[in-house]
Amino acid sequence: GRKLLMIPGPIEFEPDVLHAMGIATTSHVAPNFIEVFGNSLELMRAVWKSPKGQPFIVAGTGTLAMDMAAANLIEQGDHVLVISSGYFGKRFRDILDRYGANTTLLEAALGEVVSLEAIENELKTKSYKALTITHVDTSTGLLVDPKPIALLAKKYHTLSILDGVCSVAGEALHQDEWELDVVLTASQKAIGVPPGLALLMASEKAIQVWENRKTPVPNYYADWTNWLPIMRAYEERRPSYFGTPAVNLVVALETSLKIICKEGMDKRVKRHRSLAKAFRAGIASLNLSILPKTNKTAANTLTAIYYPKGIDDLAFRSKMASDDVIIAGGLLSEIKTQYFRIGHMGSVSASDLVAVLAALERTLIALGHPLESGKSLQTFQKEHLKTN
Ligand code: PMP
Repeated sequence: GRKLLMIPGPIEFEPDVLHAMGIATTSHVAPNFIEVFGNSLELMRAVWKSPKGQPFIVAGTGTLAMDMAAANLIEQGDHVLVISSGYFGKRFRDILDRYGANTTLLEAALGEVVSLEAIENELKTKSYKALTITHVDTSTGLLVDPKPIALLAKKYHTLSILDGVCSVAGEALHQDEWELDVVLTASQKAIGVPPGLALLMASEKAIQVWENRKTPVPNYYADWTNWLPIMRAYEERRPSYFGTPAVNLVVALETSLKIICKEGMDKRVKRHRSLAKAFRAGIASLNLSILPKTNKTAANTLTAIYYPKGIDDLAFRSKMASDDVIIAGGLLSEIKTQYFRIGHMGSVSASDLVAVLAALERTLIALGHPLESGKSLQTFQKEHLKTN
C-alpha cells in the first residue's frame, strides 16, 4: 500500500515538486532553464535570509556541500574547531582532516550540546581559521543555537560554517543577521526536493577568504574558481558551463523554493516548532524518552527516541513499515539499535504525525509493550490545539 516516508530525509515531497522532476529535460543553457536556475539562486537568499550571500547550487549530496566549504576555505595547517553533537559533527572533522586542517573536536556528552563557555575557552587557546557547527545533528536529534556561536566566532576572528543539512527551511535561520559565513544543506530534507543537490550560501567574508588563499583549492569539482562564474552567469541570466547541472532537480528546486517562500519562512519555522512540540508531547505520554536532554535542544525537524526495554529495532521498524510508516533506525554506533528516528520536516502536517503516532502505538502493542491505546493521539491533539 501507500507508505508514509517519515525518515529524516529523503522526505515526502510535494506533488508539484515531483511533477516538476518529470519535465522533458532541456539543455542546461536553454533560456527557460537559465531563468529557472537564476530564480532558484534568488529564492535561496530568501530562505537563508541572506540577501548579501553568494548561493551555490551544485549536483551532489550534502556531503559535497561540506566538502566544498572545507576545500575552499581551509589550507594545510589551518586550525579548525569542530563543535559536535553527533555523527555529522565528526564527519565534518574527517572532511577537514583530508584538507590538512588541524582540527580540534569539541564533543558534547550524549544528549547534550557543547556549552558556549567550552567553545569560548577553546577559541582563546589559539587562532582558529574557522569553526563548524551542526545545526541539527540528524543522528541525535539535537538542535544547536548557531547565533551565539557565530557571535563568538566573530569576536575571535574565526569563520563560522554551519551544517544546515537537517535544518535549512525547517529551523530558524538568519544567515546575514547572525553573520554566519557558510550555511550549507542538501535538497532531500526540509528543502523538499529529491536527493542530488548540494546547496551552499557563502558570505562576502567567506568569498574574500577564498580569494586570498595562498594555495590552490586541492579539489577540482568543489573549487569555487569553477563554480562562482557559473552561479554569477545564471543569476545574470547568461548561458555558461562548467559541469552539467542536474536540470530536472533544479527545476524541482525552483518549484519547492517557491512553495517555501509562499508559505513564508517565519510561518514555516513556526509550523515545524508547533508540530515537533506536540509530537514530543505525544511521545512523552507513552513514557518514551528522547535523546536530547532538554526540549530547548530538541530539533524541530526530527525526533530521536529510545526504544523501551525489550523492543527489537528490526522487528519494530518492519512492523511500522507493514503499517505503512517508514521510519529510520539509529545512526550513532554506540547505541545504534537502542533508538529510532522520525523525520518531521518539509510539507509535514498534523495529520501525518497523528498517523505516525497511531502506527507507533499499534506497533508497540503488537510487540508486547503495554500502553493505553490512543493516549499519544489525545496528547498530540491537545498540545497542537494550544499553538494553532
Ligand atoms: N549533515 C547532516 C546534519 C545530515 O543530516 C546529513 C545527511 N543525513 C549530511 C550532513 C550528509 O548529507 P548527504 O547524506 O546528503 O551527503
